[in-house]
Amino acid sequence: MARVAVIGLGNMGGGMAANLAEAGHDVRAFDLSAEALERARSAGCLPAGSAAAACEGVEAVITMLPAGRHVEAVYTGEVLGAAPLSAILIDSSTIDVATARGVGELASAAGYTMVDAPVSGGIAAAAAGTLTFMVGGSAAGFARAEPFLTDMGKAVIHAGASGSGQAAKVCNNLLLASSMIATCEALTLAAKLGLDPQKFYDIASVSTGSCWSLNAYAPLPGVGPVTPADNDYQGGFASALMLKDLRLALDAAASVDADTPLGARATELYDSFVEAGNGAVDFSGIIRMLDRH
Ligand code: NAD
Repeated sequence: MARVAVIGLGNMGGGMAANLAEAGHDVRAFDLSAEALERARSAGCLPAGSAAAACEGVEAVITMLPAGRHVEAVYTGEVLGAAPLSAILIDSSTIDVATARGVGELASAAGYTMVDAPVSGGIAAAAAGTLTFMVGGSAAGFARAEPFLTDMGKAVIHAGASGSGQAAKVCNNLLLASSMIATCEALTLAAKLGLDPQKFYDIASVSTGSCWSLNAYAPLPGVGPVTPADNDYQGGFASALMLKDLRLALDAAASVDADTPLGARATELYDSFVEAGNGAVDFSGIIRMLDRH
C-alpha cells in the first residue's frame, strides 16, 4: 500500500479519501476547512498542515477541488515542487478543458506525470467507492493512476490525451442535462394529455424514448424506481453543479466552434432554475419549473 495525498476533502473528496484509507493506503489529507480535516481524521487519514506538507514522500497526489482556479493555484503554488517527481498527479475535480491541459503541461515541464480524472456519480458514489473515472493523459500515466482510482470507483476508463477526461465529463453532462429536460417535458405533456405518468413510464422506458434520465432517474415522485424526486428532490446532483458543468461545456464548445443549440437552451433553463433559489435542489427538480403552467 502507498502513501497518498488527498487535497480537497469536501462532499466528494471526503468520501474518496476515506475509501483510500479503507483500502489500506497511508492517506495524508489537506483541506482549508478544519471541519473537513477532522472528518478525514475520523475516517483514518492523517491531516496535514498544508497541501505541500501532505505531498511529502507520496506516491500519488489526488485533488478534488471546486474549480479550475483552485486547481491551478494548488498545483503551481504547492504540489509541484513539494511532491516527489516519482509521484503520479491526479486531478479529479471537474474543471475546464483548457486549464486541465495547461496544468498538465506545467506538471510535465516540471518533470511530473499528471492525469485529469473527473468523475461521474455523486456524493453517495464517492462515499460508496462506486465512482466512474474518465481519465485524460498518457498511457503510462493512466497505468500508474488506475490502481488508486480503482480503490475509489467501479469503472476507470482511459479517455485519451491530457484534457480528454474533462472533455468526456462536460460532453456527458451536456447530454444528461438535455435528456433530463426532454424527459421532464415528455412526462409533463403526457400528464396534460390525460396519461397516467406511471403508464407513460412503462411505455417510454421500453420504447425509443428510453434514456437514463427517464429509466433510472424518473423526475416524478412515485414513477419508476426510487429517485431524488421521491425525496422532495433533495440529495442527488445539485442544479448549481449541473449549471457549472453546462457552462464548462458551452465554453469548450465555443473554443472549437461546435454548435450546441440544445446545450445553450439547457443552460438558460438551469440558469433560471438556480436563479430562482433552487441551486441545492436535485437537477431533476427542474420539472417543477417546466410544469408550472
Ligand atoms: P465541495 O465544495 O464540497 O469540496 C471542495 C473542497 O475543496 C472544500 O472542502 C474546500 O474547503 C476545499 N478547498 C478549496 N480550495 C482549497 C485549497 N486551496 N486547498 C485545499 N482545499 C481546498 O465540492 P464537491 O462537491 O466535493 O466537488 C468537488 C469537485 O467534484 C467539483 O469540481 C465538482 O464539480 C466535482 N463533482 C461533484 C459532484 C457532486 O455531486 N458533488 C459530482 C461529480 C463531480
